[in-house]
Amino acid sequence: MVAQRVRTRFAPSPTGYLHVGGLRTALYNYLFAKKMDGDFIIRIEDTDQSRKVEDAQKNLIKTLEWAGIVADESPEHGGDYGPYVQSERLDIYDKYCRQLLNDQHAYYCFATHEELEENRQLQIKQGLQPKYNRKWLPEEMGGTMPAGIIKQKLDKGLPYVIRMKVPDYVSVWFEDIVRGPVEFDSATIDDQVLMKSDGFPTYHFASVIDDHFMEFTHIIRGEEWLSSMPKHLLLYEFFGWEPPKVAHLPLLLNPDRSKLSKRQGDVAVEDYIRKGYSADAIVNFVAMLGWNEGEGSEQEVYSMEQLIQKFSLERVGKAGAVFNIEKLNWLEKQYIKNRPAEKLVAIIKPILKAELEQKKSLMPLEIITSDAYLEKVIELMRERVGFEHEFVTFSSYFYFEPETWDEEAIKKRWSVETNNLLKGFAVLLDSLDDFSAENIEILLKEFVAPKGLKAAALIHPLRIVASGVSFGPSLYHLLEVLGKETVLRRIQVGIEKINYVD
Ligand code: GLU
Repeated sequence: MVAQRVRTRFAPSPTGYLHVGGLRTALYNYLFAKKMDGDFIIRIEDTDQSRKVEDAQKNLIKTLEWAGIVADESPEHGGDYGPYVQSERLDIYDKYCRQLLNDQHAYYCFATHEELEENRQLQIKQGLQPKYNRKWLPEEMGGTMPAGIIKQKLDKGLPYVIRMKVPDYVSVWFEDIVRGPVEFDSATIDDQVLMKSDGFPTYHFASVIDDHFMEFTHIIRGEEWLSSMPKHLLLYEFFGWEPPKVAHLPLLLNPDRSKLSKRQGDVAVEDYIRKGYSADAIVNFVAMLGWNEGEGSEQEVYSMEQLIQKFSLERVGKAGAVFNIEKLNWLEKQYIKNRPAEKLVAIIKPILKAELEQKKSLMPLEIITSDAYLEKVIELMRERVGFEHEFVTFSSYFYFEPETWDEEAIKKRWSVETNNLLKGFAVLLDSLDDFSAENIEILLKEFVAPKGLKAAALIHPLRIVASGVSFGPSLYHLLEVLGKETVLRRIQVGIEKINYVD
């Protein structure tokens, strides 16, 4: 037998942003498909038209592509199994729903919302699990509703839904790749609505029909869908179709082990992008939410290629996965530390250019926007930034004059003497031909020693006038990168503008 080509899918509803849980589902589907040399497909599940959000589909696909998850078939890129949007497949659902009606696996239900709600409340009061009471199950299907009344209602054109008839006294069993064997008793399964009164299918019906006709081999999705499995499997059985293999991914949890929620942090991937997290770090982080390579592996940083190579559904855990933002921040730093300078230059240049359109720099633009200059900034700041954009935002003194100077530090250690030291040292700096870190260091030491001062007495004020803040990279290297002209100007401005109490 020729092995079937693996096909997996991510099937989001276009109701807004991409949730981090959605990204994980998409990623695992992608990794598994690619590992197996198969195809990854995006299908849009828009059967709930009231929840549809304009542009959500485009944004979902764009965000996935940002993360490096590019579908082989999708609404945007097409494919042989389309349409890939459920609202464009209504005739297919209609056809197969008719088949279920004919085969007596489904029936019309005219119950009103009020009636259903009343029934629900009653069952809750009786301590029962709420379930449809089968009032509209036809006599010939074992119910009590005469065919004549159903026909009357249909002839009048009254609104109805179509429900599946869950067989009595059966148990539905399946093997979940992550969870192992799972079993449900049919007594706990509701007569699920398949077609709504607006003519749209429900999620359950549409996804089974599509999963079959789009020939998916594996369904990988969040644990919240596990309880839907028996309904889906019964539908496969009604049609005589072979169900795909399934894997339900563990829940994502807040650090306090409650279900991951907006209240305890961002859940939209777009929020993380806005904050400046890189695709590599996010993908790496999300991959580890429920999967690990196994004992003996200390590796924590994985590229997409490595993930594809090493991923397996067998190594996805059952236990909830804690969303630990510190881990993400740590990963982000690892990527910044190890990313080649020229790649970082390409990332930060547009950010700097946008900043330069808003703010004037007194430094020569052709220098501060050059690759060579930016590479020097990167080498000095790599270990100090948490995000790529911080090579500009957190390091603005490499491009812009300080407008404020650390007040606390000034209060503590600024005096007339400080200004005099700076003035004296500026004269010496001016005389340096080779404005290198090494030369500046030698000069500074030679300058303070005869005065009986420690180097720190000049290092701190120099750092403050040069950068405005009292922390940062090696001062000598900072001054070298800024260049003589900028350093002398900033010393001058600092002396004039820094307010201190002597
Ligand atoms: N549309 C469902 C969702 O929004 C898809 C569930 C599934 O993968 O079957 O998550």
